Amino acid sequence: MEPRYTCYLNPFVDLRFSRCPNCEGRTQIRRFALVVHVDPVGIFPTRVSCRWCRACSVVIVHQREFENTLKAGLAAASPGQVDSNYVIIGSLEMRIWARMSRGVADLATVRRWTSDFLSFAKLERTAPDRTGD
Ligand SMILES: [Zn+2]
Repeated sequence: MEPRYTCYLNPFVDLRFSRCPNCEGRTQIRRFALVVHVDPVGIFPTRVSCRWCRACSVVIVHQREFENTLKAGLAAASPGQVDSNYVIIGSLEMRIWARMSRGVADLATVRRWTSDFLSFAKLERTAPDRTGD
């Protein structure tokens, strides 16, 4: 799949980025199936609600919520990796996520339907007018 989105990781629990850091437009809440590589080996698609700017194709991942969801998934699937380092690689087509959650998609299918992110950056604290929710 072609790279599709710009991903921002939001490390601030008090900033929700209801406005897009690029265009200042209103962001929407949308669920994404993020494809995550966890050390030492393994791909763990993790579905979380993100902020999303359609105009910019920007996905804002709330780090705390994402890590909680990832760790919960790892605790069930691979407890030894709960505290491992991870890298968010891209996003998975939601219909493939649905197949996976029924246990029918294999790793090759996941990779085929994963869109890498165009870029990935950690957000920094910005002007107060971007913080409202
Ligand atoms: Zn935008």
